Amino acid sequence: MITKKDYKFWFCTGSQDLYGDECLKNVAEHAKIIVDKLNATGILPYELVWKPTLITNELIRKTFNEANLDENCAGVITWMHTFSPAKSWILGLQEYKKPLLHLHTQFNEEIPYDTIDMDFMNENQSAHGDREYGHIVSRMRIERKVVVGHWSDPGVVKRIAGWMLTAVGVIESSHIRVMRVADNMRNVAVTEGDKVEAQIKFGWEIDAYPVNEIAERVSDVSEADINTLVEEYYDKYEILLEGRDEKEFREHVAVQAAIEIGFERFLEEKNYSAIVTHFGDLGALKQLPGLSIQRLMEKGYGFGAEGDWKVAAMVRLMKIMTAGVKDAKGTSMLEDYTYNLVKGKEGILEAHMLEICPTIADGPISIKCCPLSMGDREDPARLVFTSKEGHGIAVSLIDLGNRFRLIINDVECKKVEKPMPKLPVATAFWTPEPDMYVGAEAWILAGGAHHTAFTYDLTAEQMGDWASMMGIEAVYIDKDTKIRDFKRDLALGEVFYR
Ligand code: MN
Repeated sequence: MITKKDYKFWFCTGSQDLYGDECLKNVAEHAKIIVDKLNATGILPYELVWKPTLITNELIRKTFNEANLDENCAGVITWMHTFSPAKSWILGLQEYKKPLLHLHTQFNEEIPYDTIDMDFMNENQSAHGDREYGHIVSRMRIERKVVVGHWSDPGVVKRIAGWMLTAVGVIESSHIRVMRVADNMRNVAVTEGDKVEAQIKFGWEIDAYPVNEIAERVSDVSEADINTLVEEYYDKYEILLEGRDEKEFREHVAVQAAIEIGFERFLEEKNYSAIVTHFGDLGALKQLPGLSIQRLMEKGYGFGAEGDWKVAAMVRLMKIMTAGVKDAKGTSMLEDYTYNLVKGKEGILEAHMLEICPTIADGPISIKCCPLSMGDREDPARLVFTSKEGHGIAVSLIDLGNRFRLIINDVECKKVEKPMPKLPVATAFWTPEPDMYVGAEAWILAGGAHHTAFTYDLTAEQMGDWASMMGIEAVYIDKDTKIRDFKRDLALGEVFYR
């Protein structure tokens, strides 16, 4: 599924013709060198493309409109090498619809003390030109990222690289299509929401299907295809019979193999990139999709349980944003389940009935078949594992009735102290920042859900920038969070985003 596109980012340098052709020649030369060196760092996840220096209203407007139309262009990086009168940028910026980064840099790192003269000053004046340009972008209230520093600084390159993933998230958001089986779980509030508004804000298309339409596709899967996939499972995962009959166990696993194949065919045929199930509405399906959903998530599909289309779309979004990221540690839907409140060892045990993505697994992955306490179906086969240690973010997109809010919590993933042999589901365990008490208090005050989209591979900054681009509120719960300030942030959000 994942299908990461070969996106490119345009590097547009601003100037004007006040200082003569020699200066403009140098401007173009410098920009080309910067683009080549940035591409050569190996840090940028997507290629930068040099564009001819922008010096007139006409060319600026034309270039931004070309960027809009180019399907492979995911954003534009601008830099004012000299002084570029910002009124010439107004019409182009007005018509530009994609992510924008303002790289506030200059070609030379150090002031050339011995040789500096007025020609040098005029040619290398981004401190001046970038302020003129920044003014007009601010005056026009255009959302953009500003990155400051010398272009050779690895910290600067990493920030550009990080923003590229955000930009891809913005572009890809409007390609997310969620297939829902049935509706939301009865009486549950936080998984509900305004799907029309979600399409207006994020571009998400969310469609429901009767469960038996997809169940039919599952029953069409051939015995041979099922057996091949079951063999793959048996090769790849540890089989934990735990006293069950070998043949009966395999039959249970085969049900999930059929669901994986049938669901995937259905999703591919109808071009969906995320799926939502409902344990209470399984129609002709023999088991709640467990192992099968875990495998689909691993392939890059978004997933939400109990009708939660918001988390399904967020998981898909974060999976496509992190697609191809070097040393990625994984992205999954998770659910806050139960606490450890022992002093000094506080944390939240994260799990779900079944559906946790194996990309976050640490160590061996096993298959178990166990009864489900909810619903009325066969004991479903599921993948069981524990998750990696390290830093991650948990995000929750909520609908406040008149608008959306994205809650982003930095969390520290840990190992639980002891094995949990009787718990037949995949788990993660984390302590929210700044600590269990403030973290959970802030989360609850913000109205955060129990379902989250979790990843090790994105930062709060990246997701917050995505929210800003989408025109929605983002609130951060991290090491700097104090409840008094946090409540003021929420109150300000009420005013600003009404
Ligand atoms: Mn749930």
